[in-house]
Amino acid sequence: MDNLYLIKIGEISLKKGNRSRFEKQLRFNIKKKLRKPSRITIQKGRFFLETDESDIKNIQYALSTTPGLVGFTRAVKVKKNIEDIKTAALDFANELAISYPAGTFKIESRRADKGFKYTSYEISSLIGEYLLDSIPSLKVDVHNPDWTISIEIRDLAYIYGAQEKGTGGLPVGSAGKGMLLLSGGIDSPVAGYLMAKRGLRMDAVYFHAYPYTSDDALLKVKSLAEKIAPYLSGLSLFVVSFTDFQLLLKQKAREEEITLLMRAGMVKIAELISKNRGNICLVTGESLSQVASQTVESIRYTGSETDLTIFRPLIGMDKEDIIKIAKSIDTFETSILPFEDCCTIFSPKHPLVTPDREKLKKSFILLEGENLLKEAAEKAERIYFKP
Ligand code: ATP
Ligand code: MG
Repeated sequence: MDNLYLIKIGEISLKKGNRSRFEKQLRFNIKKKLRKPSRITIQKGRFFLETDESDIKNIQYALSTTPGLVGFTRAVKVKKNIEDIKTAALDFANELAISYPAGTFKIESRRADKGFKYTSYEISSLIGEYLLDSIPSLKVDVHNPDWTISIEIRDLAYIYGAQEKGTGGLPVGSAGKGMLLLSGGIDSPVAGYLMAKRGLRMDAVYFHAYPYTSDDALLKVKSLAEKIAPYLSGLSLFVVSFTDFQLLLKQKAREEEITLLMRAGMVKIAELISKNRGNICLVTGESLSQVASQTVESIRYTGSETDLTIFRPLIGMDKEDIIKIAKSIDTFETSILPFEDCCTIFSPKHPLVTPDREKLKKSFILLEGENLLKEAAEKAERIYFKP
């Protein structure tokens, strides 16, 4: 296998008794993304990925979008003799010197195999000198280098250059399964991403009110699903036709209660679909006080219409911080495309801000929408997005 990567795990390394379960899940999630045969071995908390995949961009994409790893770097392994290490280090230095022509560098060595005849300090000096002789424009700066080459002496000698950042968190699938309520907005894709980083595997559900919401609005949600799929390790998106329930609300509900009763309808349908999918929680992009339906009282009401736990990872976040994350996962530009959301269409001018929970629960019962909700859940169309 031609390509070798060294992978650094973060939070997994804090796990004690059940650590191997997390490691196994991470291994599985990485391999699932690579098209060619790959092998991942674990040595003293480090993952080594060897793969036949030759598309370096794809490998990097796979690794940078997989929760559970904090960093990775392409590496080479050579025999444990100083000449081979010199040659490999020079290859990396030549590559790095292209990005930093008059750059400073340092060598960082670790000798896990204490039988190796040079100490860490001696390895760094020998290789450093060799690089200075070979590339005259280089300078050493041990405190603030532009780049670092690392050398680890283990079963073999491992040499690697610049490290790239991973997403951090825990591997998807290590923390149960839930249902993400995915709208076309900025918030819900970010919510899904954050819960994926805590190890939650997810399906997603989108409520579509055709013809009041257009095909373009649906396309936008599909494109968001595609963008978060790598982080979620793949997802099934359930598209629910929500029009009939919305029309029922328009016909029967008090205008100021429409928004919250509609939210209740959403969590109930999400719960019905979840039953067949083994999902035991819901995830939304709600953030406290962002809009009328996200006040403490409103949230308490919608939460009370389902038995499932609702996770709201953005609850305490500012919009600005949410947008930063949306940009970092490349969903922002799609989210701001101007297609209408199903919630805005029938929404009242003056929605309730501090609803009376018991009164709303009664209003919901008076709608007699049970069968409608069941039918909407049963007819939902499932679309799978690959990781
Ligand atoms: P977002 O940016 O995620 O759309 P928002 O700020 O627009 O959120 P709301 O429209 O009040 O807020 O929606 C709150 C949450 O309810 C969303 O984050 C999402 O989880 C869920 N939601 C809203 N509309 C839909 C929809 N059409 N389909 C699925 N989920 C929805
Ligand atoms: Mg929205």
